[in-house]
Amino acid sequence: MTISERDQKHLWHPLTQHKTHPTALGISRAKGALLFDENGKEYIDGIASWYTSAYGHCHDFIVKRVKEQVEILDQVVFSGLTHEPVVKLSEELIKILPENQNKLFFSDNGSTSVEVAIKMSLQYHFNQGEKKNILIAFEEGFHGDTFGAMSVSGLSVYNGPFEDFFLAVERIPVPNGENNEAVLQQLQALISQGNVASFIFEPLVQGAAAMKMHDALGLEMLIEECQKNNVITIADEVMTGFGKTGKYFASQHLEVHPDIMCMSKALTAGMVPMAITSCTEAVYQAFYSDDMGKGLFHGHTYTANPIACAAALAGIELLQSEEMQENIQRVINAHKNFDKRIKNHSKVANTRQCGIIYAFDLDVEMKRYGGLRDRLLNFFLENGLFLRPLGNTIYISAPYVITDEQLQKVYDKIEYLLEEVI
Ligand SMILES: *Cc1c(COP(=O)(O)O)cnc(C)c1O
Repeated sequence: MTISERDQKHLWHPLTQHKTHPTALGISRAKGALLFDENGKEYIDGIASWYTSAYGHCHDFIVKRVKEQVEILDQVVFSGLTHEPVVKLSEELIKILPENQNKLFFSDNGSTSVEVAIKMSLQYHFNQGEKKNILIAFEEGFHGDTFGAMSVSGLSVYNGPFEDFFLAVERIPVPNGENNEAVLQQLQALISQGNVASFIFEPLVQGAAAMKMHDALGLEMLIEECQKNNVITIADEVMTGFGKTGKYFASQHLEVHPDIMCMSKALTAGMVPMAITSCTEAVYQAFYSDDMGKGLFHGHTYTANPIACAAALAGIELLQSEEMQENIQRVINAHKNFDKRIKNHSKVANTRQCGIIYAFDLDVEMKRYGGLRDRLLNFFLENGLFLRPLGNTIYISAPYVITDEQLQKVYDKIEYLLEEVI
């Protein structure tokens, strides 16, 4: 039996209705920007395996560093004990984060990094004797699938069974350049009620909302307003972090920096799971006390796993290398040229780019194309591309090491799709 057939017996996949989508493609290995299925067919990983494998799959340098670490120290309790890989990682990560970030709290995935951020922001006020229980988030934001993260996510199509258990959240639209003042006023009205703890957002690009992009200036206005009013700002950089937007972090495109940042996905170069919530010294100081109860009593068993830290360190080193920075620029320029080719196409609307992320909407009658998304997915797979369209949006967020030929293949297939298929 194939991997794909054996899979169906005991496995339950994420975000999947198994009755309508019973089969999963068996992948046996990966290298660079390529995935190979169990029959040996290759696919370009156009979304870097959900934005994790930013520097390419099984990168020799990362593999070497992880192998070395595996033989030295595998896992150790991170309450009361510490180790070299995590200390070194803290030193190196702080250097590339916005200057105001000073302390790092570790967890296991993007959702938990958001849970930690939310708890930090609530307890920050609680520790100072203030009860603030409202969180502000963007409409159509996505922050993860655990309860707190789900509560602040605005994409709630499938959240029905859980909604009664959500945290108290108020939503504002994203600033698009034209509505900046109106959004600011909405934020001010909410803040004036006096019980807002924090404002969480995906800076500049909302991944799960189909790579919706917003106005940097408008976001700065919102962050400034929060900081003037002691509302904690949380940048969820789980998707945008580590080079995707052309800078190390999306927050570095802004003049004002958030109080708290969430990181995961490319943090460990797609090798093993880990997440970090960073914060300013001021946030940390609200927990620093002779009173035990003012500490942050949150912890996961695998916190700051040494092997994950080694992968993250190697990733950060690669990210800063001249070679990787050149790759990022090369991909950015290639997308810009591709945009010129398709932006005026009759079936294309709203092309957009932020760094190495490129997206556009298909301007087709959705009703006429029931199951369009499945058709697109299958078209891409048949043509050796792993792209996951979101609704009628097609987006590319490939590993930075994708070659020019591979990029050209992605573009050619998309153009073929536009001309001949839909
Ligand atoms: C993926 C993602 C998350 C959730 O991360 P998981 O590791 O899947 O829990 C949170 N926020 C953003 C912006 C994401 O893209």
